[in-house]
Amino acid sequence: MTGTKSLTDTVHIVGAGLAGSEAAWQVARSGIPVVVHEMRPIRTTEAHRTDGLAELVCSNSFRSDDAANNAVGLLHAEMRRLGSLIMSAADTNQVPAGGALAVDRDGFSAAVTKALNDHPLIEIRRNEIDGLPPEQWRNVIIATGPLTSPPLADAIRQLTDENALAFFDAIAPIVHRDSIDMSVAWFQSRYDKVGPGGTGADYINCPMNKEQYDAFVDALLSGEKTEFKEWETNTPYFDGCLPIEVMAERGRETLRHGPMKPVGLTNPRDPAVKAYAVVQLRQDNKLGTLYNMVGFQTKLKYAAQQRVFRTIPGLENAEFARLGGLHRNTFLNSPKLLDSQLRLHAQPRLRFAGQMTGCEGYVESASIGLIAGLYAAADARSTSLAPPPATTALGSLLGHVTGGHIEMIEPGARSFQPMNINFGLFPPLAIPPSKKPDGTRLRGNEKTIAKKQALSARALSDLDRWIADSLNFAAAA
Ligand SMILES: Cc1cc2nc3c(=O)[nH]c(=O)nc-3n(C[C@H](O)[C@H](O)[C@H](O)COP(=O)(O)OP(=O)(O)OC[C@H]3O[C@@H](n4cnc5c(N)ncnc54)[C@H](O)[C@@H]3O)c2cc1C
Repeated sequence: MTGTKSLTDTVHIVGAGLAGSEAAWQVARSGIPVVVHEMRPIRTTEAHRTDGLAELVCSNSFRSDDAANNAVGLLHAEMRRLGSLIMSAADTNQVPAGGALAVDRDGFSAAVTKALNDHPLIEIRRNEIDGLPPEQWRNVIIATGPLTSPPLADAIRQLTDENALAFFDAIAPIVHRDSIDMSVAWFQSRYDKVGPGGTGADYINCPMNKEQYDAFVDALLSGEKTEFKEWETNTPYFDGCLPIEVMAERGRETLRHGPMKPVGLTNPRDPAVKAYAVVQLRQDNKLGTLYNMVGFQTKLKYAAQQRVFRTIPGLENAEFARLGGLHRNTFLNSPKLLDSQLRLHAQPRLRFAGQMTGCEGYVESASIGLIAGLYAAADARSTSLAPPPATTALGSLLGHVTGGHIEMIEPGARSFQPMNINFGLFPPLAIPPSKKPDGTRLRGNEKTIAKKQALSARALSDLDRWIADSLNFAAAA
């Protein structure tokens, strides 16, 4: 399995952001030579400001570091167990931020750059890859991020035959199914339409009367909005997908004739009364634990979204797995284009990592870089690597980007959208906790907390088993 290294063993990594840097580290610590190609400072992006590797383009936060109660905190813990460079650089450059892991961005980037520079098996070349990587590179990871340079993005677009790779993504909020009040909402497809691939009762419907609708439109119009950055203003909306507040500005009735139209729907609890407007939610993952709000792409700020959307009947206690947003983004329709090891079906020598695969956020991008690096190292050794358990944060995120997402029931704009890690992506517990250690029943929020803690404990124990069984070859850092 070790053998003499030759040029064909070398892994080429394009882009040294969060994902590419982590991937390079994982490949090199497995004993495989790596060449990293980073275009900055020769060519830069609209958001990057430095020539440092793993530059954080916006916030300096890796979000919650609570491994027991928060899915991204759990992902931190898993990555630490896997020897992540991104996590060790974050830990050594931490700045005070309550329960969050925030970092000194310059110190963090400098630490990652130094670690990769100093590694004897890593060579860093400052060059833009401005088309498909050369044929002789047999083991490539493309981790060029949401701001992939246009010539490479064009080449990938042609290869994958996808007509949309970079566009303004309109993202609608996603809600945890178990936080929707089903004593108010009901399951029904419009006109009970069954197919293709549906049952006639595929959507969750939340009804509004006229008073509720008027108050909702007022709240949308007055809610605080995010402003576009100057360089974003030239990018077109995808498929003419307008934010709901922009639709509401066009007329008070516009939403009731658009995403909130009530036709073809009957509330089983009040069949004689027609709802004035209906908000629909559609299943978003195979597990059926997440539902997205149909047509609710929005530029409202996060706090305004939570406040306004919780006025919708049935969503008063909604827990959001992801809030809506609009920003320019380059990512692949991964469930269709990539195999379970992140390789492009059309050219398996090309593996993708980071935000390009449809995960969202610094930590998630780095984690997909981590697993891409382990898979590339396994390929270089001509060995196979068992997938990380689906019960782990890493496995559930990988599962989401490579296949866990379901296609839309109705044809239309593409439905796969970038996603942060969240507990809705994890397979449910076989037996959810119902009692406290003292034998008394868990109530309300206690149940949610106990469930998260049980999911986290299961994840870490399954991850440890996977590391012991599958990763015994790694580790020579
Ligand atoms: C404007 C903006 C703000 C964001 N704010 C946040 C935030 O606050 N918090 C958060 O968690 N996430 C944020 N994100 C998402 C964030 O970009 C990603 O989470 C993360 O940086 C993606 O990691 P990555 O490694 O996939 O891409 P990046 O970190 O962007 O790394 C990609 C690298 O590839 C290089 N590259 C691109 N094209 C080529 C090429 N052809 N040849 C060679 N090199 C190339 C780039 O220079 C870059 O270094 C933001 C994204 C954007 C666009």
